[in-house]
Amino acid sequence: MLKKKNERIKTRLRKGDLVQVVCGAESGARDPRKADRNDLGGRGRIKSIDRRTGRVVVEGLNMRKKAVRPDPNRNRPGGIIDVEGSIHISNVMLVCPKCDMPVRVGVKVLGNGKKARVCKKCGSKIGEEY
Ligand SMILES: [Zn+2]
Repeated sequence: MLKKKNERIKTRLRKGDLVQVVCGAESGARDPRKADRNDLGGRGRIKSIDRRTGRVVVEGLNMRKKAVRPDPNRNRPGGIIDVEGSIHISNVMLVCPKCDMPVRVGVKVLGNGKKARVCKKCGSKIGEEY
């Protein structure tokens, strides 16, 4: 997708949302070398969203190794730790708690003037009103 520098990506995903990996190189879908990661279909909660790069970090998904130096100030030993890599927003979908599957999300204006995200499949509300 072509986008301007520093343009912020629009998404209905929020921090803390449960998402499922539906596609993408990080999922191991096509690359057999990554197949053992088996992240395709994997689920997790969004830890952070980068609206500039359009990538999300999902808890426990797209794990990679990172070498860290020992830090005596923070009482941290050195070594190799597991950290989450980012996944492009287009490769994850919000999981509807009712359908229990990845769905597209719409926004509905409620009677009280507030808005809520809804599942496009079953129409049930997802998350908090805002
Ligand atoms: Zn649903």
